[in-house]
Amino acid sequence: MKDGNIRSITIVGGGTAGWMAAAAFSHILSGSGIAIRVVESEEIGTVGVGEATIPHIQYFNRLLGIDEDEFVRRTCATFKLGIEFVDWGRIGERYIHPFGSYGQEMEGLHFHQFWYRQAQMGGALPLDRYSIGVGAARAGKFQRPDHSRPGSPLAGISYAFQFDAALYARYLRERAEAAGVERIEGRIVDVALNGANGHVDHVLLEDGRKVAGDLFIDCSGFRGLLIEGALKAGYDDWSEWLPCDRAVARPCARIGDPTPYTRATATSVGWRWRIPLQSRTGNGHVYCSDYIDDDAALAMLDASLDGEPLAGPNFLRFTAGVRRKAWDRNVVALGLASGFLEPLESTSIHLIQSGIARLLTNFPDRSFNQPDIDYYNRRTRAEYEQIRDFLILHYKATARDDSPLWRRCRDMAIPASLEERIAIFRENARLYRHDNELFSETSWLAVLHGQNIAPKRYHPIADLLPDAELDDRMTRIAAAMDSGVRVMPDHMAFIDRHCRSP
Ligand code: FAD
Repeated sequence: MKDGNIRSITIVGGGTAGWMAAAAFSHILSGSGIAIRVVESEEIGTVGVGEATIPHIQYFNRLLGIDEDEFVRRTCATFKLGIEFVDWGRIGERYIHPFGSYGQEMEGLHFHQFWYRQAQMGGALPLDRYSIGVGAARAGKFQRPDHSRPGSPLAGISYAFQFDAALYARYLRERAEAAGVERIEGRIVDVALNGANGHVDHVLLEDGRKVAGDLFIDCSGFRGLLIEGALKAGYDDWSEWLPCDRAVARPCARIGDPTPYTRATATSVGWRWRIPLQSRTGNGHVYCSDYIDDDAALAMLDASLDGEPLAGPNFLRFTAGVRRKAWDRNVVALGLASGFLEPLESTSIHLIQSGIARLLTNFPDRSFNQPDIDYYNRRTRAEYEQIRDFLILHYKATARDDSPLWRRCRDMAIPASLEERIAIFRENARLYRHDNELFSETSWLAVLHGQNIAPKRYHPIADLLPDAELDDRMTRIAAAMDSGVRVMPDHMAFIDRHCRSP
């Protein structure tokens, strides 16, 4: 190891964030000689929620050499083709935000430009008919993409997982410990700074042990023990746009086969999630404490459960927002310590993953080059802001008028970045993906269309296709989607065949 290189990494916290970081660093930095430790306290425990993911987690698992069937078995996972949103635009409406895309690009334009042209001419099929993800989700079917059939909708299937996050953390812990990570059990009672440069020098455990490190990863959850408690990095509060500040979670017994999608149902005071796993169904109610107390929010959740409750309620409090500096001096915050965006689009575990990837790209030496740190912080913030805007859209694009929460959201001022995006779409259906942002045009379209925001016009180039040819192509695409869905196996049959949990 060269002088000046990082010699040790201390990860504070052993929730999903801590063990994802430990598993990734021990795998990627193996052979570097860097000592990696995780300090966690069983007595404090983890947040205990976080079950729905987006497709990018496949890259993380692949990078770690994890076999997907084994991962599904070990985490009691099911497959997820998208999220069904119920009662968001108006009570009684529902739509699915699918992974993957609608239709196919034509003449260099996104498919939806042609769909809007046909819709304005009259006679278009519903947009959902052009998504294999929506078709399969509604039919309760699943298979992995079939790359041997290029051009077929079956090649374009995109999926994620619904899993038991505690089992995932345990699985990653096994792998990390096997790769040499040291786990230290104990409650941290103090964080000592180096008087010369203000870096974290060591954490002090209740029993007097000191754990030092060159680089600290703060995965201590909402507490932000190092990044906020010791370094006071600051927090930008986004609750003016995302006012929900509480949640209650409660799993219940599974009734029937698990759906290959997550459901998010809007309530008068927030929304409920329903996430079916192999072993049980995860449920939760995210709500705004200005309009309801905890007992009433739990009663609303309990009334919606479709099986026997399997545990007592787990109440959680949060403030939507982002840490002003995710990386400060020799501390990088990951997971809930770095910020919180409600799980409406299942983005938190992804944010952990992208933080790990970014940190590896900007991996420091012991000089901790400030421009690298600034770059990391800029990119992290941009990612949070882009996801924030997408979440706000779900609240803003509503015609609901039945409760103070929805009237507040409908009438609220939104960030200029989102205002601009909606205005452009309303004119000519154009959607732009900024800086390779997480959510694609498909995602924005699904929510805009699903919540009744329609454009006045469409892209003029969509007019270049003769009417008859447009009709013919659209008919063929819908037929290909239908026949793709027909040949797919049932979701549970697929799990039984490949990756059934014991
Ligand atoms: P935690 O799980 O809180 O872990 C913190 C760790 O720090 C623990 O090990 C704890 O013991 C340790 N610790 C803290 N203080 C000390 C101390 N003093 N001494 C020693 N150890 C200490 N994400 C998704 O991607 N999909 C979802 O569907 C989803 N749903 C969610 C629903 C809700 C209501 C909430 C609140 C979050 C949800 N999330 C979801 C987010 C997800 O739960 C988190 O991103 C993920 O669990 C990571 O948490 P964490 O590891 O940062 O924190």
